Amino acid sequence: MFCEKCGKEIMAGAAFCDECGAAVKKEINWLEGENKLIIILIAIFCGAFGIHNFAMGETKKAILRILGSLLCGVLGYILAWYDIVKLANGTYNVNPEAFI
Ligand SMILES: [Zn+2]
Repeated sequence: MFCEKCGKEIMAGAAFCDECGAAVKKEINWLEGENKLIIILIAIFCGAFGIHNFAMGETKKAILRILGSLLCGVLGYILAWYDIVKLANGTYNVNPEAFI
C-alpha cells in the first residue's frame, strides 16, 4: 500500500502516512465473507432491479439495471448476472461512478 499524496510506502493498517501525514484512504474490503454472500443472494433474487447495486451504494448501476428490466425484460437480469459472476470470483469492484 502506498500513500496517494507522496507515494511513500505505508504500513498495512496505518491510518496516516508517516511521511506527509495524509490520511490513508481505507480500502473497501467489506465485500468479503458474509456480506459477499448476502449481496450475491440479493443479486440472484432481485438483481434485475439493481437492489444489490443500491446496497453497495452504486446508484448509477442500479438505475441502469432497472431501466434494462423495464425496457427489455431480460437485459437487467443479464447485467445482474454479470455482477453475480464477478462477485462470485472476487473480481467485482465497487464503483459508484460506473454504469456496468
Ligand atoms: Zn504521504
